[in-house]
Amino acid sequence: MKLIFSILLLLPVFSFGQKDYAKTIIDTLCSDHYKGRGYVDQGDVRAADFIVDELKKIGVQPFKKRSYTQEYDFKVNTFPYPIELVLGDDTLTPGADYLVNPISGTAQGEFDVVEVNKENYKKIFSAINFKQMDPSQTTFAFNFIDCKNEDLLKEVNALSYKATQYFPVLTVTNKKQMYSVGRQQTTYPLITIDSAAYSKVDKAQIKVTNKFIPKYTSKNVIGMIPGKKKRKYVVFSAHYDHLGMMGPDAMFPGANDNASGVAMLLSLAKYYMANKPNYTIVFCFFSGEEAGLLGSKHFVSHPYFRLKKVKFVLNVDIMGGADDGVTLVNSAKQIEAYDRMVAINDKMKLLDKVKKRGQTQNSDHYFFSQMGVPAFFIYSMGSVKNYHDIYDTAENTPLNKFDEVQTLLQEFVKGIK
Ligand SMILES: [Zn+2]
Repeated sequence: MKLIFSILLLLPVFSFGQKDYAKTIIDTLCSDHYKGRGYVDQGDVRAADFIVDELKKIGVQPFKKRSYTQEYDFKVNTFPYPIELVLGDDTLTPGADYLVNPISGTAQGEFDVVEVNKENYKKIFSAINFKQMDPSQTTFAFNFIDCKNEDLLKEVNALSYKATQYFPVLTVTNKKQMYSVGRQQTTYPLITIDSAAYSKVDKAQIKVTNKFIPKYTSKNVIGMIPGKKKRKYVVFSAHYDHLGMMGPDAMFPGANDNASGVAMLLSLAKYYMANKPNYTIVFCFFSGEEAGLLGSKHFVSHPYFRLKKVKFVLNVDIMGGADDGVTLVNSAKQIEAYDRMVAINDKMKLLDKVKKRGQTQNSDHYFFSQMGVPAFFIYSMGSVKNYHDIYDTAENTPLNKFDEVQTLLQEFVKGIK
């Protein structure tokens, strides 16, 4: 009875692959409870708690005399309250039809709309003194989508930001919109409307209320699996935060960016629990990345071990589907490590391509690199194109070649001297 029972118990474990496990992690982190892992309802902290629980389940330890979490704080602008934009009779959908600029302030009410475009801007700008406008009466809609003059566009863009000191501003765009995290606030909102949802109207209802948090406490989650050589380290990092909520209805789930990276680290943790590593493996789940690499910056200036003892940092961000392979940021300067990665990939026939790229300040590898620690930032290339929008969902993240990327990373770490 006991034997049969344990076989039954083991069967699903064997049939449950890395990718399936990763899917469950992404489904969880992108669910409503985590609020897009931003700063509304402490979505990021909820995610940190989940990751800690998962590390405990897997058997990953905290560092001696430390907890799993490392707290630090920063200022951030948020939109926890209902957001509304009605153009004429048309109620627009937040996230899909428009984005509230993350540094926006507050405005509420009905406004007269003055459209400013390439035909009338000179006349309007010479006739109106922005500073004397009544901010409860009028809004300007900057519509320059058919303008090809780059200098003018730049000027208009700068002006639209500046104008938010005096009144709420609408801008129209036909380019892909991307949300981000605001760390300051202006007086009035700046709302960017997708040209497909925009129509020239006389009246607009605007309701945007920001909540600026001068001291928001966020936390990195750090765990480790001791290696045969305990005091030498290989660091895997992935940011778990994303962009959170823009009002209660628009959530940015961040499945590809970067629930997928979190899933990769947890999947690697399972592997290293079963296969004792040569060097101690550190897992850094950073927060505050989307707010400006804040978590990794904090960790690098308050590390748990001497950074000189780190053999390599492998930062994964955007692991959603490597149909076309991966890019290694920093590899242009670390040719030996890059060549080794390519050789492993060729030998094991894992991915289509391992692409070389120079240094960039676009993810959590950056501050390690600045301290002279060898580091790669690895991102997947392929069919997943949703980025910093409401469509970066678990359903849209197929995890193609997820297992192959994991194998590549494991084999690379095996060969670190
Ligand atoms: Zn990211």
